[in-house]
Amino acid sequence: MATQPEVGVSDFVLLDNLTTDKFIENLHLRFQHNKIYTYIGEVLVSVNPYKTLDIYNAQHMAEYRGREMFEVPPHVYAVADACQRVLRQQGRDTCVLISGESGAGKTEASKFIMKYIAANTTQVHREYIDRVKNVLIQSNSILETFGNAKTNRNDNSSRFGKYMDIHFDYKGDPVGGHISNYLLEKSRVVSLQPGERNFHAFYQLLSTNNAYTKKYGLSSSEVYKILGSERGSAQDSKLFSVTNSAFNALGFSASVVEDIWSIVAGVILLGELTFSESGEGEMTIGGPLRSCVSALGVSETGVREVFAGRVLAAGGELVSKRHSLSDANYTRLALAKAAYDRLFSWIVQEINKFIEAPKGTYKSTLIGVLDIYGFEIFETNSFEQFCINYCNEKLQQLFIELVLKQEQEEYAREGIQWTPVQYFNNRVICELVDAPHQGIIAIMDEACLNPTKISDTQLLEAMDKRLSGHKHYTSRQLSPTDKKLKHRVDFRITHYAGDVTYEITGFMDKNKDSLWQDLKRLLHSSSNRSLSNMWPEGATNIQKTSKRPPSAATLFRNSMAALVTGLQSKEPFYVRCVKPNPVQAPNAWDEQLVRHQVAYLGLVENVRVRRAGFASRQRYDRFLQRYKMLSQYTWPNFRGSGARDAVMVLLRDLHLTDVQFGHTKLFIRSAQTLHGLEEARAALI
Ligand code: ADP
Ligand code: MG
Repeated sequence: MATQPEVGVSDFVLLDNLTTDKFIENLHLRFQHNKIYTYIGEVLVSVNPYKTLDIYNAQHMAEYRGREMFEVPPHVYAVADACQRVLRQQGRDTCVLISGESGAGKTEASKFIMKYIAANTTQVHREYIDRVKNVLIQSNSILETFGNAKTNRNDNSSRFGKYMDIHFDYKGDPVGGHISNYLLEKSRVVSLQPGERNFHAFYQLLSTNNAYTKKYGLSSSEVYKILGSERGSAQDSKLFSVTNSAFNALGFSASVVEDIWSIVAGVILLGELTFSESGEGEMTIGGPLRSCVSALGVSETGVREVFAGRVLAAGGELVSKRHSLSDANYTRLALAKAAYDRLFSWIVQEINKFIEAPKGTYKSTLIGVLDIYGFEIFETNSFEQFCINYCNEKLQQLFIELVLKQEQEEYAREGIQWTPVQYFNNRVICELVDAPHQGIIAIMDEACLNPTKISDTQLLEAMDKRLSGHKHYTSRQLSPTDKKLKHRVDFRITHYAGDVTYEITGFMDKNKDSLWQDLKRLLHSSSNRSLSNMWPEGATNIQKTSKRPPSAATLFRNSMAALVTGLQSKEPFYVRCVKPNPVQAPNAWDEQLVRHQVAYLGLVENVRVRRAGFASRQRYDRFLQRYKMLSQYTWPNFRGSGARDAVMVLLRDLHLTDVQFGHTKLFIRSAQTLHGLEEARAALI
């Protein structure tokens, strides 16, 4: 490959004077020249270009195949290649952790990684591998249709967390995969912030008049409540076909696809129903009830019943309770959210059936790609942001532990001396949220289990009582200049990434996340086979279902714990994504915004850790290959034997002493030394 002049430094470790300003200056300089990737050692920092760069085609892929990271310009393909090499050469499971805020480029990075891995296969079993590859890529477009939405930060924002494992055979070829999904933001189904859209699926379905719209009396030119102010566009219509061919390519049967779109239609129609009271206190339902019932495949009587009242099991007795208008409305929204949320998880499960490696296939090594919500700070932050930000705390914790652990392990392995570095450990914030008995989740769960109804305000009081002394928690404005907190409504957590004020309203309800048994039974009774299968618990006798399912926060905490445990056992690679401006524009640089991200991603700290030890470490053979021309004793060939000896001779000849010799690798302490070597080399070639 032609060597291009480097812009700034391609590894932050090489910066002369490390300050945040210098860091940002280098990032900006490279960004201006479309060099969106820069390393911190093996960590890749990526800045979203918001424009198509010609750096991702097959030829580019070929340039990264089998090359060490420092030999080629920084690229997300280099990470994918390193990942795959660890797997092939050492037989170790690896994972790529992609972090950054909404719109920073996480999902795109995960797609490039997947694409690279899928392309980088051996020639045998081509056909079979092509299928796996295809399946992995197709599944992505389905997930985006049902789980992504336009937000004020990102036109195609993933509103769920995703962890995808790719399984390999003994030759290192992909043979299948598995997707785990985390916490879809289902509140979006029924309420939108100004300027935002609902999940793409709704607009896709309504972007044209098609068999579904015809069947359920919908029209692409109508205005529907849950869609907010936007309508389906030509782009949505194109994507509707893409989604459908992806369903087809994966092997979803035509009738299942019909079931899926019917549920989407049903949710749109639920959004149109209204309730009013007639003279005698009778509730009447307005709006397209018939079509709604037909789209969901349930009986009209059944629907009328769940809106009119509910049946509860209390001490072995069945008690019925009539609904007020606001209860009926609450039920309608709960039904819409639950139906869509369950649909999404079910689609993921179905996809997994198609992409799973066939039984009997050898699959012991795998690559995991984690693309999960970035840290979120909105105008109003609710339960969803609380969970998302907790997830980011857990991942930051893992990053801290693994980066340091990895460094230290490597030094030990190579027999190198090393003094540990100080860093901020965010464990205390994780514990504020998830500690047994004392953490916020425990306090919430306790409140939700209380037989008397606890209000959100009472929950906040309980939290205050237990947590008022905590350094990272407050619900009081601490000084007149401090950011305002609404009395008895707001609380604030000092996250590692900054202060976030949460509004307690809705926490109790969202945490309980219970759906009345009547609704489950209704959905289970559906003639839509898929919908019915999604709600197996609707089949159980109401009197037998006294056990309360775990709360939403507890389920989330457990899934995070399982995720972290899984990741800990793998060799991690990191992609840290940075968003250059808040308006999704190419070539625009918002210094404040970037500075904030650099701070909370701990990037400068990361460089420090990396440099406190050694600026660089390289295998002897690789080092020799790159720098052998710098000494007459090693050029063109070393007369002795062994790369380690050759490197020793080479360095003695260059009078370089600021190094340590590990068992298999050379450790170079200062960035300047590495600089010097690079310059001397550049002068010769
Ligand atoms: P995130 O997942 O972090 O919220 P995305 O990966 O969805 O963000 O990126 C948001 C948008 O930014 C994408 O839809 C795409 O338009 C653009 N983008 C991100 N990464 C790149 C890239 N490497 N090259 C070109 N455009 C990109
Ligand atoms: Mg995303």
